[in-house]
Amino acid sequence: MFDQDVLVIGAGLAGMRAALAAAGNGASVAVITKVYPVRSHSNAAQGGINAALTDRGDKWEDHAYDTVKGSDYLGDQDAIEVMCREAGQEVINMEHMGTIFSRDDKGRLGVRAFGGQRQARTFFVADFTGQALLHVLHEQTLKHKVNVYEEWFVTSLLMEDGECCGAVAMDMRTGQLHVFRAKAVILASGGLGRVFEPSTNALICTGDGIGQAYRVGASLMDMEMVQYHPTTLKSNGALMSEAARGEGGYLLNSEGERFMKKYAPNMMELASRDVVSRAEQTEINEGRGVNGCVLLDCRHLGEKVIMERLLTIREAGIDFAGADMIKEPVPIRPGMHYIMGGIQTDVDGRTNVPGLYAAGETACVSVHGGNRLGANSLLDTLVFGKRSGNHASDLAKKTSFKNISDAAAEKDRSRIQALLDRKAGGEMFGKIRLEMGQTMNKHLAVFRSQQGMEEARDKIQELKGRYDKVVVQDKGKTFNTNLIFTLELGYMLECAEAIVASALERKESRGAHTRTDMPKRDDANWLKHVVVTRSEEGPKISYKPVVVTQWQPQERKY
Ligand SMILES: Cc1cc2nc3c(=O)[nH]c(=O)nc-3n(C[C@H](O)[C@H](O)[C@H](O)COP(=O)(O)OP(=O)(O)OC[C@H]3O[C@@H](n4cnc5c(N)ncnc54)[C@H](O)[C@@H]3O)c2cc1C
Repeated sequence: MFDQDVLVIGAGLAGMRAALAAAGNGASVAVITKVYPVRSHSNAAQGGINAALTDRGDKWEDHAYDTVKGSDYLGDQDAIEVMCREAGQEVINMEHMGTIFSRDDKGRLGVRAFGGQRQARTFFVADFTGQALLHVLHEQTLKHKVNVYEEWFVTSLLMEDGECCGAVAMDMRTGQLHVFRAKAVILASGGLGRVFEPSTNALICTGDGIGQAYRVGASLMDMEMVQYHPTTLKSNGALMSEAARGEGGYLLNSEGERFMKKYAPNMMELASRDVVSRAEQTEINEGRGVNGCVLLDCRHLGEKVIMERLLTIREAGIDFAGADMIKEPVPIRPGMHYIMGGIQTDVDGRTNVPGLYAAGETACVSVHGGNRLGANSLLDTLVFGKRSGNHASDLAKKTSFKNISDAAAEKDRSRIQALLDRKAGGEMFGKIRLEMGQTMNKHLAVFRSQQGMEEARDKIQELKGRYDKVVVQDKGKTFNTNLIFTLELGYMLECAEAIVASALERKESRGAHTRTDMPKRDDANWLKHVVVTRSEEGPKISYKPVVVTQWQPQERKY
């Protein structure tokens, strides 16, 4: 058994920032991660991080307003204010810790424009911002002597007297399960992108933490709000960062028309993501697409800008679509990218389960509401990662360890042994996972309908039934990825069920939740969050009012 004041699950930007804050506040801290820390999915973030710096004539209030409008007024404005007010300091902290941000002609930190924002306020490191930030935070956690358990897989959260007091985790090298006892636990286990197929997310983004929190009674919020990014490659769902449009790239239909002028005449390609994705899907559905895509045209930016600022996405275009953006337009389409919802928290990361915190993509504060603005997620990870780390380490100072022992892992040991004992020959995880992903992508995508979502609900129930009999072929102990993928699928199905239940509940169109059968936003009845908790009978729905501080809902025009 391992004891620490604060246990952080996840070594992406949210987890690392939380660990650093907790260690800085005097706590003993352990971080558990199923992959090597700098392979966490934050590594893939390309375009940048938002902050309103006053020396650019920008104001945090303007950033907050753009975020509120981008969220289609579903974001909680008190939380958005916190995030936007603290953004500048976080970006400067990261620079001081060693992030080499790209510079402008005057030698200051450079900014680029991102969607849904009236001012260029996205700070960046070429098109690998997440990687640059993550490496710096990893160095910092080493410096602060945080214990990082790499390639350890958390199987469940531990509860005692109604409080979260640790977790069970498998050392993937040996297959052994161990108990981590903690005075506070911070879940920073990332998103659930791979519940959809395809997705821009890495194969590791399987919603484990969301599923685990749901199983111990945590409330999930805004789960129906799933972002489809406007520019993904058809072949494998890989992302072509919004930075391409931020630098001036155009979107064209099969007639060579910059079609965004019909949908967002002022902001054009830099309208918010839900608006651009809907516009693209409409062009494709009405026959003005090119093989199920529209075109991202960056040729006019010139080779120098592309090579300096869009290098990695140029390579992705060549490798996965056979198109070199310097010479030709790249075919792209909307693709699953991000979950705005997650484990419901307050601005200090506290969930409704005492002792359990959540931060980053796994959490829902809610600062993104119905639609996240590009480059606000990295900001969310840092601001709320730090706040969770501070609060959890303060809690640890006044809390004692629960009286649990290594026996607390017994339930998981028997669950996993039972799975391994099932005779070979039955169905493995792969087909169930693929059918789940394709179902979600068919019915919970850019446009949704009652009938489609009901089909998805029934299909997920069928898949859950099949999962109860799933077989793990590999009976080994060392790096048994067959077993890990099978465990992940269990959490993914919980997430899928919560998404569908929440989406069926919301009887209007708002942000990323666009229903063909209910196309209008309905503030009178639906200016509220859908909250879902787990019960024996299935997902249980309740509501939480949206917090409005200074920006009354208005019609959204870009
Ligand atoms: C291609 C791409 C580009 C993006 N670009 C941008 C951008 O430019 N700007 C922006 O703001 N946002 C961007 N985003 C979104 C942003 O990158 C993510 O939302 C954010 O990085 C998530 O960080 P996180 O710390 O919450 O989770 P992650 O970085 O995903 O980390 C999750 C951690 O949890 C661990 N974990 C998960 N389950 C378990 C388990 N069972 N046991 C142990 N460990 C576990 C993982 O090992 C990992 O360490 C992008 C997203 C994608 C997909």
